[in-house]
This record gives sequence, structure tokens and C-alpha cells, in this order.
Amino acid sequence: NDSFLKAGFHDNAPVDKLLARPVAPPALVVSALPETARGFINAVRDNGSFRVAAAEQTLSPNPETAMSHQSFTNEPPTDFAVTEHRSTMSAALWRTVEQFGRHAPLVIAGRDVDTAARIESLNPSHHRQVVGTSAAADVAHVDEAVVAARRALPGWARLDVGRRGQYLWAVAERMRTRRFELAAWIVHESGKGWIEADADVAEAIDFCEYYARQAVELLAPRRVAVPGETNQLTRVPRGVAAVIAPWNFPLAILTGMTVGALVAGNPVIMKPAEQTPLVAAELMQIFRDVDLPAGVVQYLPGVGETTGAALAAHEGVDVIAFTGSRQVGMSLYRQGAEQSGTLRPSVKHVVAEMGGKNAIIVDADADLDEAVLGVMHSAFGFQGQKCSACSRAIVLADVYDRFLERLVEATRSITVAPAEDPGSVLGPLIDTAAVAKVQRYVEIGKSEARLALAGDVGALADEGHFVGAHIFADVPPNAVIAREEIFGPVLAVIRAGDLDDAIAFANASDYALTGGMYSRSPANLERARRELEVGNLYLNRGVTGALVGRQPFGGFKLSGVGHKAGGPDYVLQFTHARVVTENTMRRGFAPDE
Ligand code: NAD
Repeated sequence: NDSFLKAGFHDNAPVDKLLARPVAPPALVVSALPETARGFINAVRDNGSFRVAAAEQTLSPNPETAMSHQSFTNEPPTDFAVTEHRSTMSAALWRTVEQFGRHAPLVIAGRDVDTAARIESLNPSHHRQVVGTSAAADVAHVDEAVVAARRALPGWARLDVGRRGQYLWAVAERMRTRRFELAAWIVHESGKGWIEADADVAEAIDFCEYYARQAVELLAPRRVAVPGETNQLTRVPRGVAAVIAPWNFPLAILTGMTVGALVAGNPVIMKPAEQTPLVAAELMQIFRDVDLPAGVVQYLPGVGETTGAALAAHEGVDVIAFTGSRQVGMSLYRQGAEQSGTLRPSVKHVVAEMGGKNAIIVDADADLDEAVLGVMHSAFGFQGQKCSACSRAIVLADVYDRFLERLVEATRSITVAPAEDPGSVLGPLIDTAAVAKVQRYVEIGKSEARLALAGDVGALADEGHFVGAHIFADVPPNAVIAREEIFGPVLAVIRAGDLDDAIAFANASDYALTGGMYSRSPANLERARRELEVGNLYLNRGVTGALVGRQPFGGFKLSGVGHKAGGPDYVLQFTHARVVTENTMRRGFAPDE
């Protein structure tokens, strides 16, 4: 539809338009370039012979002005086809291995606080390898962290939103300079492959850049004046935010929730997942590096059921930003309505992003080359451990056998390897509990459907938390493996007689997170648009990899409550709106009283 043939012969576009450069020249962001290249470009530009508009904005001496003027663009992924990038990443992986064994204490009110209890962070690819340890906060530390955050609240809330945004900007810049190192920690601690780990860092940068810009607009006072009366709506921070994060996007999701709350004026207590406390410690270090005032962010790793629960229940917490499982999310939501003390009566605002059981429909006329790759990538990328992952492929009967055969063969060819290996397509699961859970579902699947592929991981099973890709065929739409979130490399393939059935099967889920359809029929794509009940619908592409600003992310039903992450109104949920109305028809005037 976008080809020049259609534009020329069907739409009669003028020749000038047909020959025009297809895309605007890419914005060159000088700050993202290595020192030497940056110096070169600045030198050439200073000579006046080379103009780089976007770069000038990036380098503006007043970041606040630059921020509001420069439109948001996503941080580009690293191209690992470039030799230099590959060697930089390899070097970063080695450098970080040399730091294995280090310890991260809590950070409360800007000070390190150590604890007797420790969390051991293991490398999922080599489970005997200890990446490092972190402190583990107990209930008393939760109290201290809340006190510190409450103390920081008035000063932080008073700060101009543009100034708070500048801190986010500085965080993004620091992440850019440490990009490979951060990705390396993600590889070691969460078992993500290179490309996914790099994308995790890029998304974290995007959250900082995007929310900083959004907040300036969203938090601007709005006035309505009528004769004799002015009304002003302002947004004020809710108070102290508890950010409770999962391990599967150890940097991006933790950063997104934290900076979203921060830019709206709320001090934050970060409670990272037990599996990834060290990536979170890197984020805390970045907050320190950019001189965020003490007490504005606390780093509080700990066990979910104790530290997380105490933090969520604390009466000094006003808003909880949670991403994780449905079970925990729902309990926090219930708990938000309960008052745990008498000092600060309030209903806690709870933002809870939870799970999914996402389906892709493969229509009878779908391009199978694309559909096979899209389903495979969506189902087995990061071992199926994304909330957006495809775990159901609903295939129209006409193409069912052909699709299944090709999908199984394509998946069989996937390289299983430790995450630090650049050739790894399928890496390890996060921990032993995840392996046990997936194996349990595989056993259930065997009793419900036909096992079309059981990927073998060989000796890697002893080395790390590896489980091969599993494809179940002829899965009844109401089977357990077609309804429950497995969070691993297990795909249920379901046969549908017609599109009505396919859509009905897709919607018969507790969840409504992502979904997709491969089809060449405009009418059927239109039906998908209208009828598929999901927060993020993808047509003729995979269902993972949402980009900040472009595909604001989040679902409904039991997939979550709250505004979409990376969306235009996300920051609002960390604020209260207040309206001040003044009668301006003066009756007398008392200047000194
Ligand atoms: P989880 O619910 O086990 O843990 C998430 C966080 O909650 C962790 O920090 C954990 O320590 C903490 N926690 C656990 N029990 C708690 C309690 N009782 N009180 C307070 N905090 C507690 O989830 P997980 O295994 O880390 O992540 C996987 C889940 O996250 C999947 O269900 C996935 O779909 C979901 N997820 C959703 C999104 C989304 O945007 N919708 C994104 C990523 C992950």
C-alpha cells in the first residue's frame, strides 16, 4: 500500500513527490556519539559549514528550554552488526564479570545502610555463579525509608517541574554513557540476550526523556476565567510513592515507574525484585551520580512477602506503582483501600500492571513467512518471560497444518545458549522456581493436547535454568495451558474453524494485554481492530517490543489498572488535581491586613 507503484499509477502522485527523499534525514544526536566523533562534528559545525539542527538542540546550554522544544524520539537500538559495538559489549561483559561478588547496601536518605540479611543474586545462565549480593530490608528499614521520603517530600514537590525533568534528562544521559555496562549487568543478572538487554536500557532512557517532556505539559496549571471569577486547576504530587518492580525488565520498568513518580513531585522508595537487585543498584548509583537530593529516592531491596508487603501497607505511602503478577497486584489493590494507621487517613492510589495470556490469530490468507517468524519471536523472545509474549496462536483451519509444521521446524532451529553468548536466541529462565513452574505446565499440557515440539537443552540444563521451547498443538481453547499465564517458552496452538471462532477464543481470557492478527484481508483486519479485547493490538507484526510514546503499553481486565506506561497520561496518576476558585468581584480592599 505504501509503494511508489500505487502512489504513481493509482493515486497519480506528481513526479516530484515520487522522487522525493522518502524520509527526513535522521536527527543526529551528538551527545550519543563517541568523544572523537562528537568533537569532529562540533568542530565542523562551529566552522559554519555543517548544520545539525537536532544536535544543536540537544547541546543547548539550557536543558529546560531544549527539552520543551525538542520533540521526543525513541533511543535507537544498538546495531550489533557493527564490529565496534560487538567488541564494546564483549568488553563490558568481561568488565562486569570482574566485579562479580560485590555487595549493594540499602540507600536511605542518601546514606548506605547495611543489613545482616542478604539477598544472593545468581546468574540464570550459570546458576552456581553468584553475581553479587544486596542487603535485604526489614520492617524497621521500611519505616526509616518512609520517614526519609516524607522528609524529602516538601522540597521535592516545591521544585519546578522543569527542574525535576532536568534530573530525568541527566539520568538518561548517564545511561547513554554507561549503556553497554548496564546491558551487561542485565545479561548477567536476568539472563537476557544482548539485543533484549540493550533494548531494556534504551527503554529506560526513553522513559526518562518522555516523562520529563510530558510532565511539563501535563502539570501546567489550567485556568478558566469568567467575569468576576477565576478558576485554576493545578496538579500536586500524591506524596510518597512505593515502586515495586518485577525482574523481567530489571532496568526499564523500575526506571519507568520511578521517574514517572519523581517528575510529578513524589519521592520514591524503590523495591526491586529479589532476582535483580544489582541492576537496580546501578540505577540508584545513577540517581546519586546526577546529584538527586538525598531522600528523594531510596533503594530498598528485600523479599516481596515481607519488605514489599510492609512497604505497600505502610501508612506513610500514598501511591503504589506495581508491575508483576496478578496475584500480588490484586492483593495490593485490595490493600490500598484499607487504612493501616490513623495518622494519615487516605485511600492509597494503586497502579498495577499485571499479566497476560496473549493471542495471535493467523488468518487463512496470512503471509505465513511473516506469521511464523512473528509468532515464534513473540512466543520465545526472552524465553517467553515478557508480559506481552504470545502464548496462544489461534490458527484458521485452512492454514493450520502448514503453519504448524513450519512453526515447529523454525523453532527447532533456535539456538539455545547462555545469555552472554551473542548467538543465543533462547537463554535461561530466571530461577529454579520458574523452571519448576514451566515443567509443571508442560506436564499438564501433555494431558490436554498434542506435544508438537519439546526443545532439548542438553547439558545446559545442569549449567543454568534452561528449558527448551515447547509447542502444543490441537489445544482446546479452554485448556489450562490456553488460559493460565505460564511465563515461559510454552506456546499453545489452537485450531479455529472460522474468524468468529478465532476472535471468540482470543477474547475468552481473564486478561487483555496484547494481541495480534496476521491477515491480508482489510475486512478481517478491521474486525480485529473492532473486536479483539486487548490493550495493545498489533496487526501483521509481532506482539512484543512496545516503544515508549509510540505504543503506550498496558492492558485491562485482569491485566492491570492504571494509565498506559510510556503513554501521554501516565504521569497524571502520580498527582492529585486541585481547583482554586476565587471571587474577583472585590468588595473592599485591605492591603495590610
Ligand atoms: P511478582 O508479582 O512475583 O513480583 C513483582 C514484585 O512484587 C517483586 O518486587 C516482588 O518482590 C514483589 N512482591 C511479591 N510479593 C509481594 C507482596 N506480597 N507484597 C508486596 N510486594 C510483593 O512478579 P514477577 O515474577 O517479578 O514478574 C512476573 C509477572 O509480572 C508476570 O505475571 C508478568 O506478566 C508481569 N509483568 C507485567 C507487566 C505489564 O506491564 N503488565 C510487565 C512485566 C511483568
